[in-house]
Amino acid sequence: MKEKIDLIKKRIINGGNIVFEESLELCKTTEIEHLCNTANDIRKHFTGSYFNLCSIVNAKSGKCSENCKWCSQSSFHNTNIETYNIIDKNEALTQARNNFKKGVHKFSLVTSGKSVSDEKLDELIEIYQEIKKETNIEIDASMGLLKKHQLRKLKEIGIKHYHCNLETSRSYFPKVCTTHTYDDKIKTINLAKEVGLEICSGGIIGMGETMEQRIELAFELKNLKIKSIPINILNPIKGTALEKTAPLSDNEILITFAMFRFINPDAQIRFAGGRLQIEHLEEKLLKSGVNAALVGNLLTTVGKNIDEDIEQFTRLGFTFKI
Ligand code: SF4
Repeated sequence: MKEKIDLIKKRIINGGNIVFEESLELCKTTEIEHLCNTANDIRKHFTGSYFNLCSIVNAKSGKCSENCKWCSQSSFHNTNIETYNIIDKNEALTQARNNFKKGVHKFSLVTSGKSVSDEKLDELIEIYQEIKKETNIEIDASMGLLKKHQLRKLKEIGIKHYHCNLETSRSYFPKVCTTHTYDDKIKTINLAKEVGLEICSGGIIGMGETMEQRIELAFELKNLKIKSIPINILNPIKGTALEKTAPLSDNEILITFAMFRFINPDAQIRFAGGRLQIEHLEEKLLKSGVNAALVGNLLTTVGKNIDEDIEQFTRLGFTFKI
């Protein structure tokens, strides 16, 4: 299998691709360390030592009409999270300012719900205008299944990336959400592209999907030419439909991250939610193709310390300027 891994690496580095069946074969390898080291070599070849840092704030929390089984903000779940209609402008501004000062590249307002109304979007745009006045942090957005005119408005005020996770494979999605469809998400991604926004899209692993379905997701993202791919590890929050889901094994997690790099060689493969579940594995994953991270707090859960994160990424040879 080592020879096969090396052969595929050579092909990828020469501008070729790994195909679906080969990916499934590699997932079965017992040479996991070699697979991870090779993913690291592919990362170095395509993206060098650059490491991208992004941050988010929950701009509208909870009371969501959708039934995503993993989500603490769904009104189908009973999770005791704090709910609010829109974040206080000063609170968002403080967080953007703090992240900018620490050297974080991107800051995104994220809203719960299937979408946002035009009126709500205008309120959110006011917050972005304040952030733009005070910082030079890249501004991004994650607001669900927006319409084209809303996405255009975001582009016009300087939003760079629109975030819309596919979450899982097309074949598994109906098992974890039935109030909207995979095609709804792909439609939003395509509309965002049409108005000139770049896309950030990834998923959550550990929701009961198979390794093959994770590979399916990696290929969906490749086909959509996504260059920022957050990989979340399921945090089975009490009160959600997935609260009793068993965790993935370390090897499954390592293989998944490495394969996302093989399949999407020049993308930012990003640590996202669930980082506290994989703290013991982070250093290995940072040597298995990861080159980006969501830092600071998450939407409804506390994250890791940003300074400690930056210290760790630096110690492993990453840099933060292109
Ligand atoms: S993931 Fe988004 S759309 Fe789904 S329940 Fe949570 S907030 Fe709503």
